[in-house]
Parts: sequence; C-alpha cells; structure tokens
Amino acid sequence: MFAIGRKRECRRVRDKLSEYIDDRLGIDERDSAESHLESCDACSQELEALRMTVHLLNQVPVVPVPRSFAIRETETGREQVPGSRGWGGPSSSARL
Ligand SMILES: [Zn+2]
Repeated sequence: MFAIGRKRECRRVRDKLSEYIDDRLGIDERDSAESHLESCDACSQELEALRMTVHLLNQVPVVPVPRSFAIRETETGREQVPGSRGWGGPSSSARL
C-alpha cells in the first residue's frame, strides 16, 4: 500500500503550494508538485482554494498568506459558556 507515502507527499506538496503559485519553485520541485497535483484531488482542490485566496490577497497590500489551509468543518461546534457560573446562586446571598 502506498497510502502513507502518498500522505507524506501531500504534506510536502501543500507546504509548497504557495511557492508553486508564486512560481518560486525550482524545476524539480515544480515537476513533482505538478505530477502529484494531477493524481491527487485533495491537493488540487487545495491549490484552487489557495489560488483564489492569493488572488483576493493580491487586491490588498497584505502579503502574508496563512500557512495552513486545512478546512476544518468539524471544528465549528465549540461550546464555551460565557460569563461565570457557579457563583452568586440565589441561595448564597443572605436574606435580611
Ligand atoms: Zn495530495
């Protein structure tokens, strides 16, 4: 099985996607990135997303591109209770 090797390749390629878009990769790196992108849907989608983002960023003078572009759909439901509770309950105040 080459699943593990492929995953490592994904990480490697994604790490270089922004450079790839900026055309800053060497021929070898670009070649291997391209051949990976052709065979990997996930990474080519990543490339598309990054391209769009770079395009948007190019319209404003802000250069830094976020490093990780992993889409986390599952991390939306964070439960945080605002304010403090467990203090000042109705029975804790003295009645006069
Ligand atoms: Zn990939």
